Amino acid sequence: MKQTVTVLDKAVNTHSLDKAEILGLLKAGNGSALFAAADAVRKKYAGDEVHLRALIEISNYCKQNCLYCGLRRDNAELARRRLEPEEIIDLAYKAKEYGYKTIVLQSGEDPYYTAGKMREIISAIKNLDLALTLSIGEKTYDEYKAYKEAGADRYLLRIETTDETLYNKLDPGMSLKNRMECLKNLKKLGYETGSGIIAGLPGQTLESIAEDILFLKSIPVDMAGIGPFIYNPDTPVFNGSEESAAGSEELTVLDGKGNYFDLSLRVMAILRLIMPDINIPATTAMETLNPDGRIIALQSGANVVMPNATEGDLRKFYEIYPGKARVSESPAESRLNIENKIKAIGRTVSEGKGFRIKTVRN
Ligand code: SAM
Ligand code: SF4
Repeated sequence: MKQTVTVLDKAVNTHSLDKAEILGLLKAGNGSALFAAADAVRKKYAGDEVHLRALIEISNYCKQNCLYCGLRRDNAELARRRLEPEEIIDLAYKAKEYGYKTIVLQSGEDPYYTAGKMREIISAIKNLDLALTLSIGEKTYDEYKAYKEAGADRYLLRIETTDETLYNKLDPGMSLKNRMECLKNLKKLGYETGSGIIAGLPGQTLESIAEDILFLKSIPVDMAGIGPFIYNPDTPVFNGSEESAAGSEELTVLDGKGNYFDLSLRVMAILRLIMPDINIPATTAMETLNPDGRIIALQSGANVVMPNATEGDLRKFYEIYPGKARVSESPAESRLNIENKIKAIGRTVSEGKGFRIKTVRN
């Protein structure tokens, strides 16, 4: 315990931790001191305002085949849907009416949305005076450039894991090198750049998670989203097979079977300590594993929530993993519920677009 307190003091004062210290915090028996420290740092550097971003899931078609994800191209169990540009613009308009200042468009990697279609969607949303975040996967430099020129402000692309062997196994046909290159290109083009990981992937080690955390700081990201791994039975990812038992105890190999809410909360809290002024969402996957997940996350370092503003079929067909939180709510209910919860913990809903305000040099 004493050691944890010393490490936390260092993190709070210097915003710097080495790999061994991060590992110690990931493994420490009780995370409560870590969560309290991250909450205090969030309050000091990011303030009490919570930024709400309206999440619109525009397509569940995906040309990629990530082994853990329900949207993967070989998942024949999933009915596929996509929204036309005018439907997306209409949902953005409605989200503005609900009071949102930022829209997040998310999808599988769907080539239907050509650069021309994306430009049309982006310009129309920017004409509504909204900030716009894209989360539509790996694209070329020129595509990212076209979206930026059309007005996109932010881009989310999780690195998922920096363990190259694990990445190659779980993301067939993709490469860690290219994903890192995409993040570099996004930074170069001036996007507010978000990344993050899945915590609890089968075969992932705590040591590799410590390296992931240092990688996110090295970019440096402007936003970091951490999701606990949630097993989807319609995917081939092994669940408790022989591979899960293969690791050395010292590095703690995860097996994809546990509830990784606490682990993802720890990763998030450590990121807040070492990158005090970035935007950090309380993620849907956290809420899926714990009914109070988003509020607990907001009290452990997070300052952003992305309520779902998708309507109709796509809301239920965008099934990355089963049991996704709040699928049956309407966009209006999603907004009201989270606003009430935010107020109940003494926080306020931001009236602004929620750009990162840099107060600390990385
Ligand atoms: N296709 C884009 C991409 O991969 O960047 C964006 C959409 S993708 C569905 C959004 C995120 O879902 C991924 O970055 C991944 O971290 C997360 N995800 C996929 N499968 C998951 C699972 N089984 N458990 C938790 N998160 C998962
Ligand atoms: Fe497609 Fe993204 Fe899912 Fe991978 S994580 S299968 S790229 S939607």
